[in-house]
Amino acid sequence: MRLRSGPLLLGGRNDTFLLSLGCLGSSHESYALRIYPYVVRGTDGPVKEPRLILILGDQLSPNIAGLQSADKDRDVVVMAEVMAEATYVPHHPKKIALVLSAMRKYAEWLKQEGWTVAYTQLDDPRNSGSITGELLHHATNFGATKVIATEPGEWRLNTELTDFPLPLTMLPDSRFITSTSDFANWAKDRKELRMEWFYRDVRRKTGLLMEGDKPAGGKWNFDSDNRKVAPIDVRPVPPPAFAPDKHVSAVLDLVEARFAANFGDLRPFSYATDRDQALQVLDHFITHNLPHFGDYQDVMIRGEPTLWHSVISPYLNIGLLSPLEVCARAVSAWTLGAAPLNAVEGFIRQIIGWREYVRGIYFLKGPDYVSSNALGHSRKLPDVYWGGETGMQCMKEAVAQTRSHAYAHHIQRLMVTGNFALLAGIDPQQVHEWYLSVYIDAFEWVEAPNTIGMSQYADSGVLASKPYVSSGAYIARMSDYCAGCVYDVRAKSGRMACPFNVLYWHFIDRHADQFRSNPRMAVICRSWEKRNASDRAQIMADAEELLIRLDQGEPL
Ligand SMILES: Cc1cc2nc3c(=O)[nH]c(=O)nc-3n(C[C@H](O)[C@H](O)[C@H](O)COP(=O)(O)OP(=O)(O)OC[C@H]3O[C@@H](n4cnc5c(N)ncnc54)[C@H](O)[C@@H]3O)c2cc1C
Ligand code: SF4
Repeated sequence: MRLRSGPLLLGGRNDTFLLSLGCLGSSHESYALRIYPYVVRGTDGPVKEPRLILILGDQLSPNIAGLQSADKDRDVVVMAEVMAEATYVPHHPKKIALVLSAMRKYAEWLKQEGWTVAYTQLDDPRNSGSITGELLHHATNFGATKVIATEPGEWRLNTELTDFPLPLTMLPDSRFITSTSDFANWAKDRKELRMEWFYRDVRRKTGLLMEGDKPAGGKWNFDSDNRKVAPIDVRPVPPPAFAPDKHVSAVLDLVEARFAANFGDLRPFSYATDRDQALQVLDHFITHNLPHFGDYQDVMIRGEPTLWHSVISPYLNIGLLSPLEVCARAVSAWTLGAAPLNAVEGFIRQIIGWREYVRGIYFLKGPDYVSSNALGHSRKLPDVYWGGETGMQCMKEAVAQTRSHAYAHHIQRLMVTGNFALLAGIDPQQVHEWYLSVYIDAFEWVEAPNTIGMSQYADSGVLASKPYVSSGAYIARMSDYCAGCVYDVRAKSGRMACPFNVLYWHFIDRHADQFRSNPRMAVICRSWEKRNASDRAQIMADAEELLIRLDQGEPL
C-alpha cells in the first residue's frame, strides 16, 4: 500500500495556511506550528525509554499528530482492536469491517515506513478488551513509562485516557481546520452559533473560493440555485467498488463470526480500506458526480442509495482523506471549468462548514450534550428502524439501504428517518444510539450534534434555528417514494393519510407554547391556530390513534 500526498491544485487559495496544517505535505516542520500538548501528566526528562504512541481506529492519517511528535528509533506505535470499542453500541457489521481492515492496512504501512508497531488483533487470546488495557500491557512489555495520544473524537474515550494511570500527553487533533479552542473563541459572546457565520470565517481563513476578501461569484452561499428535482435522463454514477484483499477477507470472516447478530449486511463489502482506494473514490466523485452535486443534493430516488453524493464521509472520518485536500480538489475542478460554482460551494460548505461546526459544538457543549431532550420526547424507537414491517415507502427505502450499505445520504437521514422520529416524539437518546450504530461514518463527535441538535431539536436550537420537520409534501416533491406507498401523501386525515401529514400538526400543537417565541415557528403555529376547529380536532384524533398504534408495536 502506498500513502499519497501529491501536489494539490488550489483556486482562490491560501497556501501558507494549508501548509501550516500539513495539508500539502507531511513534514515535521509543517506540523511544528500546530502541535502542543494540552494535557500533560508526568515530566519529560532525559530518559530515552520507548514511549507508546497510541493510534486509534479513526486516526489513520499519515500525518496524525501522535506520529508527528514520535521518534521512529525510540517509540512504539500501539494499535488495538478491542471489544470495548466494537461493542459500545451495536455497530453495523460493515462499519466494524471498515475500521478493522483500514487499521490492519495502516499498520502494515507503518511497518514498511520503519515504525515498530504493537498491534493487537480482536481474536488475540490475550487481548485485554480495552484500549487502556492494551496500553498497560504494552507499557510492561516494552518498558515504556509514557504515552502520547491524539485527542479522541468522543468524550467517552477522552475521559478514559485522561484517567489513565501512566503519564499521558494528549495532542490536539490537527486534522481539523478549526481547533476546539478556536471554536470556543469564535463562540464566545455570540448569542447564536449559526453555521453560516462560522463557515464564512473559515472561507476567509482558508482562502477557499475567495477572490481577495470577497467570495467567488459574489455570494457566500448558492443554495438558492440548488435543490432541484432530477430529470429522468440524468443519473448518477455509483462510487467505485473494491474487491476484498487478504486483509479485508480475514476481517470479514472475523466480523461474521463475532457480530452476526448486529443489524446490517456484512457482505458484499466493497468500501475502500486504504488511502489509495479512498483517493480513487474522491477522484471518481470529482469527475462524475460533483458537477451535479448542488443541483440534486436533496433528491431521493428508489434504488439509488448514493445519488450524486460523494460517499467520502467514512474515509474523512477515519483519516484516510483530509478535509482540506478534498476541498482543494473540488475547488480545482471549478478553476478548471469541470464543475459549476454552485456545486463546488455547496460541497465545500458541507466540509469546512458543517463538518467542522458540528465538531466545535460537540466539544463546546461538553459530555452532557448528547443527553439533551428539550422537547421531553420519550417514545420507544419503533421496530421499523430495525427493518420491521412498514407500508411507508420512504422509511422502507431508507432503512433497507441502511441495512445493506450502512449508508443513507443526508436528506434521508434528516427528512425521512429523523423527521419521522421527531414528529412521533421518539426518545432522542434512542434515536442517537440508532444513528451511531447503523452508519458506516458514525463517530460521536459528528453523529451526536447532527442527531441531537440538527435532526431532533433536542438541544432547543443551539444548532438549528428551527426544527427540521415537514409533512409528506416535501418528501413527495424531492423523491419518487410516494408513488409506491400504501399511504396517500395528498390526504391530510384519515387512516390512509400519509403519517408525516398527520403527525406534523400534532407535533406543532403539542409544542406550540415552546415554539411561539421562535419567529420562524410562530408563523406555523398561527396558521395551525387559524384552521377551523373541526379540522384540527380530526387531525389530532388521527394522530393520537396513529401514536397509539405505534406504542402498541403495530407496523405503520
Ligand atoms: C441525523 C443525522 C445523523 C448524521 N450522522 C452522521 C455521522 O454519523 N457521520 C457523518 O460523517 N455525518 C453524519 N451526518 C451528516 C451527513 O448526513 C453525512 O455526512 C453524509 O450523508 C455523508 O455522506 P457523503 O459522504 O456522501 O456526503 P456528501 O453529501 O457528499 O457531503 C460531503 C461531505 O460533507 C460532510 N458533511 C455533509 N453534511 C454534514 C453534516 N451535516 N455534518 C457533518 N459533515 C457533513 C461529510 O463529511 C460528507 O462526506 C448525519 C446527518 C444527520 C441528519
Ligand atoms: S406517502 Fe408519506 S409515508 Fe408514504 S412515501 Fe410518501 S411521505 Fe413517505
